[in-house]
Amino acid sequence: MTTVQPLPLRVRVFAGEDVDSYARRLAARNYTTVSDIEHALKSEGAVSSLGPKRGRLRLQVWRDLGVLSPHAFASAVSVERHPVRVRKLCLLCTHGEVVYGRMPQVGLVCVKHHRWLSTSEPSVMHLEAAWRAERFFRRKIAPSGVLYDAPIMQIALHAAVAGVPGDVVEARRQVSGVEEVHPLVYAEQVAIARMLCRPDIVGPATSPEFDIHERHEVARVAFDAALADVRGARGWAAHREVDTALSRITELRRPYRDGTDTYEQDEYGILRFALAHATAS
Ligand SMILES: [Zn+2]
Repeated sequence: MTTVQPLPLRVRVFAGEDVDSYARRLAARNYTTVSDIEHALKSEGAVSSLGPKRGRLRLQVWRDLGVLSPHAFASAVSVERHPVRVRKLCLLCTHGEVVYGRMPQVGLVCVKHHRWLSTSEPSVMHLEAAWRAERFFRRKIAPSGVLYDAPIMQIALHAAVAGVPGDVVEARRQVSGVEEVHPLVYAEQVAIARMLCRPDIVGPATSPEFDIHERHEVARVAFDAALADVRGARGWAAHREVDTALSRITELRRPYRDGTDTYEQDEYGILRFALAHATAS
């Protein structure tokens, strides 16, 4: 507990909002600044030191200043050793206020307002595949600990860009009015990412017990399925983009010459899914 008195004017906290974002808004609402408030608290002796920026004391002080519940600022800061980045919330969700927070369960689309969650927040209202993909991401991918910017999602983005032909992207652009490429291939990105978190696919596709042809065949079939709805899909080009990662995982799964298994360097985040299959079978 602290002896901090609440500020006279309140602002609501948004789900996932970061303490710095909230502090800035609360201070502005009270016609002052975060540093002036924190300086005053120290000089008045209400707190001797606020400690680290995201330390427990500082979080509690800002909860007390804004009369917030203990659940405020409690979002996970990392998932599966991947940092949950602070990013801007959908401007329509925040009624035009600039708010930053951590949303580990959210991909790249506000499903309520059909906005692409990037700096310019273009509307994807006419790109139904993108918000359907977002629902799938939240249901199937986020719960397995894969964040929107995790290595699996980045590899999947490269593969989607390679696998969807330019004329298909252009046709989608014309229909939807969306200029950025990324939302136009989000459906395929999510489908490929899902494939890369499925133990029954990445298990055999990275199994040291299979030869390279068998491993490639597993991946090829999975890619063809992920891109099945794309006219003229270039599954081979998409596959090439993930091949480095899958080959690396295969190497990691080979027992080392000294007989020890070192499974720590899961830089792609795929190994844990591959090993889940190895354990289950
Ligand atoms: Zn929104």
